[in-house]
Amino acid sequence: MNIANWGNYPRIKSHLFSNVTLDEVPELTTHKKDLIVRGNGRSCGDSSLNKNAILNLSKVKFNKKGMIYNYIDHELLVNSSASIGEVLDNYSLKNIILPVIPGSRIISVGGAIAADIHGKNHYLNGSLVNHVRCLDILTASGELITATPKENSDLFYATCGGMGLTGIIVSAGIRMTNTETSVLKQQISLCENIDKLIEESQNHRSSEYFSAWVDLSSTRTHGRGVVISGNFASARELLDHDVAYLETAYSNSLLTVPFYLSSKLFNHLSVKALDRLYYHMQKHKRRRAQFTGLNSFFFPMDAVKHWNRLYGRRGFIQYQFVVPDSDVLKQIIFLVKRERLYSTMGSLKIFGEQNRQYGSLSFPMKGYSLSMDFKLTPNLFKVLDYIDEIVAESSGRVYLAKDSRMKAEVFRKMYGRAVDEFLEVKAKYDPCNRFNSLLAERLCLKL
Ligand SMILES: Cc1cc2nc3c(=O)[nH]c(=O)nc-3n(C[C@H](O)[C@H](O)[C@H](O)COP(=O)(O)OP(=O)(O)OC[C@H]3O[C@@H](n4cnc5c(N)ncnc54)[C@H](O)[C@@H]3O)c2cc1C
Repeated sequence: MNIANWGNYPRIKSHLFSNVTLDEVPELTTHKKDLIVRGNGRSCGDSSLNKNAILNLSKVKFNKKGMIYNYIDHELLVNSSASIGEVLDNYSLKNIILPVIPGSRIISVGGAIAADIHGKNHYLNGSLVNHVRCLDILTASGELITATPKENSDLFYATCGGMGLTGIIVSAGIRMTNTETSVLKQQISLCENIDKLIEESQNHRSSEYFSAWVDLSSTRTHGRGVVISGNFASARELLDHDVAYLETAYSNSLLTVPFYLSSKLFNHLSVKALDRLYYHMQKHKRRRAQFTGLNSFFFPMDAVKHWNRLYGRRGFIQYQFVVPDSDVLKQIIFLVKRERLYSTMGSLKIFGEQNRQYGSLSFPMKGYSLSMDFKLTPNLFKVLDYIDEIVAESSGRVYLAKDSRMKAEVFRKMYGRAVDEFLEVKAKYDPCNRFNSLLAERLCLKL
């Protein structure tokens, strides 16, 4: 069958083994020589693609929900096939939430751990690996190994952020966070240029969550943007403001893109118009703090089903990097504008310190992270190759979960000795390279 991830690029022919049961997994893992596991295909690049075999474990559940919560230890034991949204639907109204929440509820827990995801609170909570207590991993030999930060720690750290190349995460134990309510108090502010945006990002470090939308098409200003910060509201605040509204279960997306649009609709005029509209729409919201639910705060894009079809059949590239220095961030924004690579999705996050463990390929590091979506155009890869070099020179890195085009040499420069350490762990648990993907082939992440 033809298969692609969320970016719809690349699209390949492969054999998809869906709804595999736990009994079938060891046999499939040991008999297929070359395979990759797939969660919900929300990575934008080629990390869960393999031309030979792709396994999907959505049937593997130890109970109906696929998760159990231990109220004493605050630990959620969850199957890797459960989605972030399912976890939140089951526990957020009990004021128990995931410590790290990504920008889509459809991502699977296995995919989230394999990418070691970050949220809008990285500067406070770090990435997901900091909250994972244990993993059950099915390795290439067919053996189910329990890995924790202390026991089989090499396998644990190489798997969190290891993009499915060390084995199959079957289940995980995650320490959850308690909140007073499940309602967020959100604050919006406008910044007329990138310097103000960077300044604001420093002022908001006391907020539990921070992210900013960056206007990458405005010619009048350089990098103006909208800062969205938030905290979980206290019960007192809800009473004082008479907030009767509590978001319950997720309601299905209101809007849908029913078919692939022509990519011609996505041009510099339409992107500019959309960016201007969005910026001005935020103006009336900025004065007052608003109370809002989890889904609208964390997952605004999920409100539009199949939004990836807006870029047309050829798909799009999502490019996310992190750099330690704000001057490099400004330089890259300038370059993107100069090369007229229009993106309506400039999303800025702030990362805090990240302890790097042996064998870990986790993306986050202290600095500024910008994510952008680009329609495929003839000069796109050339410009991104050039930006890769700038990122690597400044000791930054590109996010593997969104990558489908980076070159192996520049990847080596960015991730340095972490690549050798990772390959050492892989040699121990997967000496015959059973777990392999297009990403691993392209970046030489194989033995
Ligand atoms: C709208 C949107 C918003 C996003 N926001 C964020 C964000 O805020 N922060 C962030 O960090 N990322 C974000 N992402 C990226 C996303 O979190 C990662 O790409 C994640 O890996 C996707 O998970 P998935 O279940 O869809 O996995 P897939 O795309 O199916 O797989 C991704 C990787 O995980 C591996 N994998 C999947 N399941 C398993 C398993 N059971 N065992 C071992 N490996 C496995 C695959 O082999 C592959 O390498 C976003 C993506 C989208 C589309």
